[in-house]
Amino acid sequence: MTTLDQHDSAATGETWSCQTCGACCAFSAEWPRFSLESEADIARIPAVHVDDAAGRMRCVGDRCSALVGEVGSDTACSVYAVRPEVCRACEPGDPECLMARAHWGL
Ligand code: SF4
Ligand code: SF4
Repeated sequence: MTTLDQHDSAATGETWSCQTCGACCAFSAEWPRFSLESEADIARIPAVHVDDAAGRMRCVGDRCSALVGEVGSDTACSVYAVRPEVCRACEPGDPECLMARAHWGL
C-alpha cells in the first residue's frame, strides 16, 4: 500500500518512485484493509473500490482495484486523496515495501 510519491529510502539510500512501482498495491488482498477509518472516511472512497464484506479495498486477485497502470512501470492510486490509513503508513524502504518489491522482482 503505497503513498505513490517519490521518497528516499532510509534503508537503502535509493530513491524509489512509487509511481514506477505499485508493488505493494498488488501483493496481497489482505493488505489494503480498513483499520482506523471512520464510516465517513470509507464513504469517501468510490464504492466500486470498496469491499464492505471483507472490510478492505476491493481486490482482483492480489491487486487493489484502485491501482491503475502496470506494476513496475507506471502506476497510480486512483483514490489517492481518500486512500486508507494503511496505504498512508507504508513508506518506501520499509519491510512491507521490500517484501512486495522482491515479490515483483523489483
Ligand atoms: S512497494 Fe514501496 S516503492 Fe513500491 S509503491 Fe509500495 S511503497 Fe512505493
Ligand atoms: S488504495 Fe491506492 S494506495 Fe491503497 S492499495 Fe489501493 S491503489 Fe494502493
